Amino acid sequence: MLDKIIEAGVDTVRINFSHGSPEEHVERAERVRNRARAHGRQVGVLCDLQGPKIRIEKFAEGKIDLAEGDTFTLDAECPTDAGDQERVGLAYKQLPDDVGRGDTLLLDDGRLVLWVDQVEGARIICRVVVGGTLSDRKGINRQGGGLSAPALTEKDREDIKTAAKMEADYLAVSFPRSAEDIHEARKLFEAAGGKGGIVAKVERAEALDVVDEIIAASDVIMIARGDLGVEIGDAALPPVQKMLIRRSREMNRAVITATQMMESMIENQIPTRAEVFDVANAVLDGTDAVMLSAETATGKFPDKAIGAMHRICLEAEKQRIAIESDHRIHSKFTYIDEAIAMAAMYSANHLKVKAIAALTESGSTTLWMSRISSGIPIYAMTRHVETRRKVTLYRGVYPVSFDVTAADHVELNREAIDELRRRGAVRDGDLVIITKGDLMGIHGGTNAMKIVKVGEMI
Ligand code: PEP
Repeated sequence: MLDKIIEAGVDTVRINFSHGSPEEHVERAERVRNRARAHGRQVGVLCDLQGPKIRIEKFAEGKIDLAEGDTFTLDAECPTDAGDQERVGLAYKQLPDDVGRGDTLLLDDGRLVLWVDQVEGARIICRVVVGGTLSDRKGINRQGGGLSAPALTEKDREDIKTAAKMEADYLAVSFPRSAEDIHEARKLFEAAGGKGGIVAKVERAEALDVVDEIIAASDVIMIARGDLGVEIGDAALPPVQKMLIRRSREMNRAVITATQMMESMIENQIPTRAEVFDVANAVLDGTDAVMLSAETATGKFPDKAIGAMHRICLEAEKQRIAIESDHRIHSKFTYIDEAIAMAAMYSANHLKVKAIAALTESGSTTLWMSRISSGIPIYAMTRHVETRRKVTLYRGVYPVSFDVTAADHVELNREAIDELRRRGAVRDGDLVIITKGDLMGIHGGTNAMKIVKVGEMI
């Protein structure tokens, strides 16, 4: 299946640390990279920390059925596997301190709804508002958010070391409440030798109150629509998704739209029309990536789900609304390489340019470029495998293995064009923008752009 999903167009895989052992994660990442190499592709690896998912414990019989109007108690002192029709234990023992009479608790991604009648010591006595089957270790959210669980658990701290060992291209922090949570994860990841980017999963209501700080502290934002939708209500999600995409792009960050994008493809071979529109609309909103979860983790047709997404993304990227941009036209730039990236995109959008060849070390030039909608492919030409894997998440950016330190500048231009020609990306007569630095091989060194016509003297 890995071969099939690579062929179907996957760019980055998420390894969800909520499931499996460290040994399995390490082995899976190796397998992904080996198979990607065999296909001549780069596939990024995103390690997703479990975070403080607040869960009930287990039932003696595995599950119960709750009906509207029943009384049911969440009891922090109930033994782990002794849940019954009256009560169940809590993995998060502090929950009784965090809730009060009148709160609404949503279980199993909102499928069951409990109203808190009273809290007595370790017991939260609830009335069932929406019933259904409740099985072992299902998640709990409070409507409106505000649970105090810290973002990084002891397990996460250990898992960060595993992610660093795996050379994760991205580390995703679940349920961050503030920029501080992101800074702390970054510090731990770097101390363990991690070099990848940090992804903030926006999935708590209170994260939205400090969203600019969280975006600024992160490299990538994930719109985790599952948990976020439970906390703020599903109807509030669409405008929040649009705001998060717009704000992330404005702040030069990449953004992932996640959860239930192709949910029906867990069972079916083709998406519903609504799913086609959901993926396409996220692309039109400006997302960098669309993410699958159960569709590829446990679904019957992972390759078909990815194939469908791939096809929808390509078509949506062609739409006019997605290829025009006045982004940052009136803003000031901080860095020289940032100014070159913006100048390149301004030129590309006003001239019939076929491709952009960004000779890059860290990939940051290509991130800035890809914040500008253009529909023009940006080739991140770099000798660093870490950079090639990192840019897999940036919209419209394609990694190319290329040694920028070799020849003189004229020779370098020629080699870059030849590489694009070999890939079938350009042909004689096409215009290409090349960005690079006078001193090649240093981070942040891009200080020049050149427009060349393929086939003519460079
Ligand atoms: C989500 O809640 O939408 C999400 C992506 O989180 P996870 O799949 O890790 O629960």
